[in-house]
Amino acid sequence: MREKWKNNFSEWYNEIIEKAEILDIRYPVKGLYVWFPYGFKIRKHVLNLIRNILEEKNHKEALFPLLIPEQEFSKEAKHIKGFEDEVYWVTHGGLEPLNVKLALRPTSETAIYPMFAVWIRSHSDMPLKVYQIVNTFRYETKHTRPLIRLREITTFKEAHTAHASYEDAERQVTEATEMYKKFFDALGVPYSISRRPDWDKFPGAEYTTAFDTIFPDSRTLQIATVHNLGQNFAKTFNVQFENRKGEQEYVYQTCYGISDRVIASLLVIHGDDRGLCLMPEVAPIQIVIVPIWFKDSERDVDREAEKLKKELKDLRVHIDDRDVRPGSKYYDWEIKGVPLRIEIGPKDIEQEKITVVRRDTCKKQQISRGNAARKVAEILSSISEDLRKRAWGEFNEHVYFAESLGEAKKIISEKGGIVKVWWCGEEACAKEIENEATADILGIVNESSGGKCVRCEKKARSMLQLGKAY
Ligand SMILES: [Zn+2]
Repeated sequence: MREKWKNNFSEWYNEIIEKAEILDIRYPVKGLYVWFPYGFKIRKHVLNLIRNILEEKNHKEALFPLLIPEQEFSKEAKHIKGFEDEVYWVTHGGLEPLNVKLALRPTSETAIYPMFAVWIRSHSDMPLKVYQIVNTFRYETKHTRPLIRLREITTFKEAHTAHASYEDAERQVTEATEMYKKFFDALGVPYSISRRPDWDKFPGAEYTTAFDTIFPDSRTLQIATVHNLGQNFAKTFNVQFENRKGEQEYVYQTCYGISDRVIASLLVIHGDDRGLCLMPEVAPIQIVIVPIWFKDSERDVDREAEKLKKELKDLRVHIDDRDVRPGSKYYDWEIKGVPLRIEIGPKDIEQEKITVVRRDTCKKQQISRGNAARKVAEILSSISEDLRKRAWGEFNEHVYFAESLGEAKKIISEKGGIVKVWWCGEEACAKEIENEATADILGIVNESSGGKCVRCEKKARSMLQLGKAY
């Protein structure tokens, strides 16, 4: 049931995005797509989850402008360097050329931190934790792909924090990492966490931590990043505070983000050849009731369906009463990934039962009508649990350790996934390893008992994680 999903992933993905009504790819600008209402609802539930997690940890939602004046955008040298190929510029207001060019935000540090400089006065103003969920624009020159590589990132959740000490900023990095773990666990999206190499971190950051997942085609996808910014941006944007000794000091900052890729992962990782299989937590419709009509029983069946829907009022339930054959209804809802289907026919009513079909296993069972509400809730939570378990099981099967560079290369080309190798810590070695293995460095993980660098055979202090990244 996962033949196409696994062996012809690209085709599966393009088809499902359209057939399940996630995105319409026919918008006439490359890399820009339209959210269908159904896809948009999934997005809404995903965002509710992350909002709740952030708010629990005292993050406040804000909204900063889309346009960033050139002089602010260009202040942080590394930052502008990192983004210069990707920025869209607004150069005209009507027919008039603008005195100051305006960037469409590719990310919002340079929009937010000048305001932090105004807002923050003393140590008592911190920690300051804000976030926004907005669209950002990047002029991607690589092949664009819905939800994965976009020119308009429609769902960019970026959090930005300021702290009175380096230690507190470090604590924030840990908190952010924990929040993202909780978020991905809720979505059943497995991940590996590693530190980006110094030469490939977020432009302007002290260091960057990344979350990567693995797709059915065995390529890896970076799905979240957490950055410790140190005082780099604070110095550039003059974000100072009065510390406890009464002296002026630059703040310590962090930022962390996720994007549409989270939604891509959620759709892809649990899917199969029949279509999506949504986690109940984020499914716009958790249960679809399909009335099975026979002559003379239509009204009884409809009445029973309505009655059941009322009993399931805490869940998102839809009755599909379209005038089409039940088989084609099943087909439609399977593509859309509704976690549970309930069929009610005259026989079920007579036997005081209902028939339920799980989307993840496609197994059919009858349950007694009497305690349907409780039973159905139980089945939904076991669907979540099973999807999560299956996803992690598959992920772990695709994480490898290679003793040598040759072995790493072989695994990368034959199996894909994530391959770990010992590394001495030298950039030159890492770049050689990357080239030789024809892979990307996803990040670095610290391992205590060191082996030998697969390139130079010197004592290794950490491991590189390699993969073919999207
Ligand atoms: Zn080495």
